[in-house]
Amino acid sequence: MTLTRDDWHARAKTIAPETRVYYAGAPRASASGETFASVNPATGAVIARLPACGAEDVNRAVAAALASFETGVWANRAPGERKAVLLAWADLIERDRDHLALLESLDTGKPISDTLAIDVGSSLKSMRWFAEAIDKIYDEVAPTPGTALAMIRRRALGVIAAIVPWNFPLNMALIKIMPALAAGNSVILKPSELTSLSALHIAALAHEAGLPGGVFSVLTGTGPETGRALALHMDVAGLSFTGSTAVGKLLLGYAAESNLKRVNLECGGKSANIIFADVADPARAAKAAANGIFQNMGQICNAGSRLLVDARIHDEFLELVTREAAGRSPGDPLDPQTRYGTMISASHAERVRGYIRSGLAEGANLVTGGEGEAGAAVVPPTILSGVSNGMKVAREEIFGPVLSVIRFETEDEAIRIANDSPYGLASALWTANVPRALRLEQRLQTGVVWINALRTGDITVPFGGMKQSGLGRDKSIHCFDEVTAMKSVWLDLGE
Ligand code: NAD
Repeated sequence: MTLTRDDWHARAKTIAPETRVYYAGAPRASASGETFASVNPATGAVIARLPACGAEDVNRAVAAALASFETGVWANRAPGERKAVLLAWADLIERDRDHLALLESLDTGKPISDTLAIDVGSSLKSMRWFAEAIDKIYDEVAPTPGTALAMIRRRALGVIAAIVPWNFPLNMALIKIMPALAAGNSVILKPSELTSLSALHIAALAHEAGLPGGVFSVLTGTGPETGRALALHMDVAGLSFTGSTAVGKLLLGYAAESNLKRVNLECGGKSANIIFADVADPARAAKAAANGIFQNMGQICNAGSRLLVDARIHDEFLELVTREAAGRSPGDPLDPQTRYGTMISASHAERVRGYIRSGLAEGANLVTGGEGEAGAAVVPPTILSGVSNGMKVAREEIFGPVLSVIRFETEDEAIRIANDSPYGLASALWTANVPRALRLEQRLQTGVVWINALRTGDITVPFGGMKQSGLGRDKSIHCFDEVTAMKSVWLDLGE
């Protein structure tokens, strides 16, 4: 059944989110009884009050997670059995698809059509892929002399804390949780304090699916309180993080201060999207450029936030992108026709407005958009032209719908500007000349390079950055390296 705007609003009025955290196999309030508000950014209304977990909750949750790991109740089960439980969990998430999409829209201000298709839809695809992968991975035997057999085995790390951001709450959480659980770890998820509702719902479903108590827990609370306590904990063996570079650096420090736990970081980006004069299909490239920065209201780590355009086609191309931007007017997140919603909070929108002001003060031109209504959690799609790569709007991650357009004259200049960034998450180049594309791809210092594409991704392909965009990789079979320890096992075979 396709739900209308009125249907979604009617459901939103009566929705009853799960408000208890899950650890040690049961739903609970926080040990202190303290709570914090989860707010709908589109209306300012408090959706629910959630447990503010502190050190005591963290200690109890970690102890239960460690006990579950040490008894082998999950880690020692055959991979195929773990797969069956994880697939059952995915089926329950699919059963509750509408409820989860609604929770996600209310919590983030995203359009309901996006939360259905992307937040829930692609999360389900990822879940099933990771569950299916785990009984198809083989260990290795090293090419030693015939007098010994050396096996290279991978073992679960133990307790892994997954700390995730608010931009794709369910998606980011599942991309971290699933490989860790599939590999046999016990996992504690700490969602962003701005968007915890979907995480609490899937925790309840995990128990319904048969994940043993302690194997999967969710703790809600702030980063400095709940997240930091997890990251400093001596019995947490791994941190799997997606979020800002600033917090990623803190986590490396916490790991160093505590037990040298394994740290996997997916952090920020300032991706360059380079359009050469010989681009094959300018209209398609312009559509991708606009989608690449305005989808999810620009709150995307790999947004193509720096648009580098060859001077020879600069004005015509900018015109095409501007036309694409015009097709996105902010609307009611619960209307299925809406393609552009609300930002995560009024304060984040204000931060984005500050960047727009800074760009204009440094000499950029406002092509379209602008600050929008003061105080509202909405910023319209905004394009700044005449940007130079030294300006703040070209150097810092805005994490909002602001496209900085930079003109270049030569191929070398384009590559130099693209690489002149503290970040190295992704980059794109558009040209009809394939040898040129493959030659230049090698010079781009980013974990992902798109040729004649922008922001394409798939669960089968590794995702992650170079430089200050992070350490390690999400997605694909390679991400199991992040959640397992490699062991070398020697057997002497005699002379
Ligand atoms: P954030 O770094 O502020 O928060 C991320 C998580 O870390 C939250 O759960 C937060 O509570 C927690 N946290 C904050 N301070 C902490 C501390 N001192 N100790 C432990 N945990 C702490 O990021 P955000 O604002 O939620 O998300 C936006 C950022 O996420 C952007 O920089 C974006 O680029 C990045 N991101 C990266 C990717 C990627 O795959 N590379 C994907 C999505 C988002």
